[in-house]
Amino acid sequence: MDLAGSGRSGGGSMNQSCDPILPENNVTDLLRNLNLTTDEGEVAAFSDEDEDEVRGQTKLALIGKVLSPATLHVTTIQQAMKPAWGNPVGLKIRAIGEKGNNLFIASLGCENDLKRVLGGSPWIVGRHGVILQEYDESLKPSEIAFDKMEIWVRILNLPVGWMNRQRGVHALGLIGSVIGIDVDKDGEASCPFLRGRVAIEVAKPIRRGVLLKTKKDGVPEWFEIQFEKLPFFCKSCGVMGHSKLECASPAARND
Ligand SMILES: [Zn+2]
Repeated sequence: MDLAGSGRSGGGSMNQSCDPILPENNVTDLLRNLNLTTDEGEVAAFSDEDEDEVRGQTKLALIGKVLSPATLHVTTIQQAMKPAWGNPVGLKIRAIGEKGNNLFIASLGCENDLKRVLGGSPWIVGRHGVILQEYDESLKPSEIAFDKMEIWVRILNLPVGWMNRQRGVHALGLIGSVIGIDVDKDGEASCPFLRGRVAIEVAKPIRRGVLLKTKKDGVPEWFEIQFEKLPFFCKSCGVMGHSKLECASPAARND
């Protein structure tokens, strides 16, 4: 599924390297090959006790990103998340990474709040979606991939024979990676629609439906889907994180 993305970036760098590579273009590579001075060779490390202490302090945290094209102040994020998350005890939000990336770390006071916040996504700041991930102290802000968003989705008007775990997971899998499905202990769904939690790829247009072959030898049929709490997305290309006025690949408009 990532083939398109990696192909694109590979192609881009090939096109840019027609000219012979000059030393000044390669400062990073040169630095990498330098022998370290005595000062540079010093290593900072933690003892086991330090490690335990640091882990204890930061374990109940989430790393988040607001999918907004504009830079948001961390206070704006805090003011939106605090009431949405039910004013959890010990909530502290701080900004990390490059300013325009709208990354933050949210510390919480207890495990239950953390699970509830993580499981209740997507959250919204302004109109924009928030992607959350479990805190991992070893990740650098530049390395964290916020490419997927977990969201509840409903597939409408399915034949009754599809309202179960076995076939339902199959259908939900067309929308994204299936995290969970709303069924009883026997694996049967009793809502008027099939409901599941999926991780969708944020770089792709929001899906409007799924094609399912519900009858043997029949033609695939179109089933509409609904997302619960869908964040703001571009009405031109269908991707989250910008408006149609900021769209890089606008669709042709009809009257
Ligand atoms: Zn767009």
